[in-house]
Order: sequence, then structure tokens, then C-alpha cells
Amino acid sequence: MKIPILGGGVAGVSTAIALKQKGFDVTVYERHKTETNIGAGIVVWPNATYVLEKLRIISQIKAVSGYPTRMHRLSHTGENLGSINIEAINKIMGYSSFSILRTDFQNILISKLNELGIFINYNHEVTQLQINGEKTITHFKNEKISSADIIIGADGRMSSLARQYVLGENKPVYQGFINWIGVFESEKKVFQNIVVNDYWGIGERFGIVPVSQYKAYWAGGIASAKIGRKQPTHYKKELHSIFSGWPTLVDEMIVQTPTSRINKVYVHDHNPIKLWHKNNVIVIGDAAHAPLPTSGQGACQALEDAWHLANCLTSNSTNIARAFTQFTQLRSEKTANIISSGRRLASSLFNPSTEFCKVRNENSKATDYSRVASGMAHTWSQNLINA
Ligand SMILES: Cc1cc2nc3c(=O)[nH]c(=O)nc-3n(C[C@H](O)[C@H](O)[C@H](O)COP(=O)(O)OP(=O)(O)OC[C@H]3O[C@@H](n4cnc5c(N)ncnc54)[C@H](O)[C@@H]3O)c2cc1C
Repeated sequence: MKIPILGGGVAGVSTAIALKQKGFDVTVYERHKTETNIGAGIVVWPNATYVLEKLRIISQIKAVSGYPTRMHRLSHTGENLGSINIEAINKIMGYSSFSILRTDFQNILISKLNELGIFINYNHEVTQLQINGEKTITHFKNEKISSADIIIGADGRMSSLARQYVLGENKPVYQGFINWIGVFESEKKVFQNIVVNDYWGIGERFGIVPVSQYKAYWAGGIASAKIGRKQPTHYKKELHSIFSGWPTLVDEMIVQTPTSRINKVYVHDHNPIKLWHKNNVIVIGDAAHAPLPTSGQGACQALEDAWHLANCLTSNSTNIARAFTQFTQLRSEKTANIISSGRRLASSLFNPSTEFCKVRNENSKATDYSRVASGMAHTWSQNLINA
């Protein structure tokens, strides 16, 4: 069975690997001319580690990652608001967590794909999907067309044509905040320990995730009702004006990160959906369930999709409808919960009320973070680890 995958991001490439390893014939189409990625870094939480082990790429990930041990929550004045023990989550779930730069992560996935003899077809922007009898025809901007029995839509959160095809609409939801994301590298040791520092202000947030003692990725966010312009030459000025007076580590990230390694994102997610497939087209990754970055799970859930979809297609290779239904049943509730948890945290972090943030910080100090850790472990294990 020939399976085209639309989109060469985390979901598309990992699904191609998983399917190829199970003996399927896959082709990946990507609109960009070459490898690109918008993100700065990701935390590979234990549920993603489980999948990466199954895909036999965990050793490559370990070679370039950090092992974060804790996630500290602090106020913008540096007051301790509590701490999540990442090692406790790892212990409950039975797999490690890693922090890794996005470029390294994507390169590892693509190298594995190439090792399996599959090369991404760049410069293939999908413009239309069309049913024709039993088959679905994909039209590309470069005027090529392809016809297939199954199509996997992994074409991301903002303009997925596969989502449009399946649902009849595609409306990412702007969640009222901006993120500037960046990659910091230094020749001197800046981080004594690999711990995440998450600083909370009033409608503002700055998170720093080291991937080694010399490198980190970071995200600075602020509530913004409007979607404005993106002018890279203004990024540092914007960041300085928001985060001046915050702890020195925040200032160091902003000052020492070259503008070329900073991006600005008006952050959208998707409302959860129950319908993930129509005819022989199925959506996965952000096209199906884009959560906010505050969920910490976007890429991890894309990896889970890869693993489950490959299994569902393997056990139902003669009944695609059943494979798609089984996959949707496995994935929809979990991803909907993750979208909700990302929204809950974002609405608290980006609430601009001083009074609200004061109460929020007091509540955080009083929180039993060992329960938070076991709750995260429980949610992320669902339908995957020890399922
Ligand atoms: C600011 C920000 C920070 C984030 N931080 C984290 C994090 O720390 N941890 C985490 O786990 N997740 C994070 N995420 C989420 C994570 O990036 C996504 O959930 C993950 O990349 C989803 O992968 P995907 O393959 O579904 O989509 P994408 O990575 O967006 O890939 C989609 C691909 O499809 C291609 N494409 C789109 N349209 C077409 C078309 N018409 N034809 C052909 N190709 C097309 C795109 O070019 C792209 O390569 C973050 C997201 C944002 C916005």
C-alpha cells in the first residue's frame, strides 16, 4: 500500500519512520524548499521517549540532549513558587525526559528517515485534495498530482488543507498571547544544573530550558489582544521593554541571543475535534490537535500519533475505515485533555490582573507539586505506557 504523508514536520516524519519500519511504502511531501523549523527546542517527555525508543532513535536523541531534573516556578522577582520534580515523573512513567534543540531533533528524525531509504519531496505544496472514486487525488503547486488509497495529513496548525478537507473548515484559534522564542549558546558554563526556570510576571512569562551547561532555548510571552506585525529588527527592543528588571538570567538570554536566532509567534491552537478522517484522508499532529506550547506536549503528541497510527494500520491493513476509527478513539480524548490543560495554564499565565496574579502565585506556593507530577505522569501515560 502506498501512503503519501503531507507535511515534513515532527508528525509527518515520525509517522513515515514508524510506517516504514512496519513495512509500508510511504512518501513525504513538504511545501518548503528545504529543512526548516519554527521552534527553538522541545522537552521530550517520557511518553515521547517511549515512542522514540520504539522507533529506535533514542540513542541519537540522548547524545545531544540535556536531562532536566526539575521545573522551578518563580515570580518575576525571583521568588520561589514551587517546583515540579521531573525525575519523579520519569520514575512513575518508567522513561527519561530530555531537553533538545528543535533543529537537532528534526535532523535526527530526518536522518533516520533517510537511513530507511526515504527522502522528503521538498517544494511540494499541496493545493487541493479531491476524491475520485476509491482514491484521493492530491494536487501540488508545482502542478504534480498523486493518487492514493490513504492520505495522512500532517500539514500543521495554521493552514492544514487536510483538516479543511476532513472538517470542511480550518480555523486556528488565536489565544491572546505572543511568544518570542530563542536559542542561546555560550562558550562559558552558564547553567550549573539542567533545570527549567519558569518565571511568572503579570500577564507575562519567561521560561528557560537548558539543553547543556552551555546552551538553552527560551520563550518570553506576553498577553496581547491583537495580532500585530513581526519585525525581527525590533525583537530585542520589544523583549527588553517587557522583561527589564527581571532576574539576570532572563536578561542574559535576551542580550546574548543573536536576533537571527529569535522568532516571534502569535500563538494559536485548535479546538478539539471528534472527526479526524473523511473518506481515506486522516489528520494527525497539529493538523488534528494543535495544543498551546503551555501544554509542553505538541511534539510529544505528534510522536504518539505516529506510533498509534502505524499500529492501527498494521492490525487493520485490509480495513482502513476500521484503522482510522480505532486511531481516532485512541487519540481524541487524550489530545483534547492536553489542549484544555494548555489553555488553563495560558489563561492563568497571561492574565494581566495584578490581583489575579498575586492570588495565583500564593496558590502555586501552596500547591502539592508531588501531586502535580503524578497527575502529569498519569495523563501522559494514557493509552500508551502500560496500556
Ligand atoms: C511557539 C511554539 C513553541 C512550542 N514549543 C513546544 C515545546 O516546547 N514542546 C513541544 O512538544 N511542542 C512545542 N510546540 C508545538 C510543536 O511545535 C508542534 O506541536 C509540533 O511541531 C507538531 O508537529 P506537526 O508535524 O504536526 O506540525 P509542524 O511541525 O508544523 O509541521 C507541519 C509541516 O507541514 C508543512 N505543510 C504545511 N502546509 C503544507 C502544504 N499545503 N503542503 C505541504 N506541506 C505543508 C509545513 O511546512 C511543516 O513542515 C510549540 C509550538 C509553538 C507554536
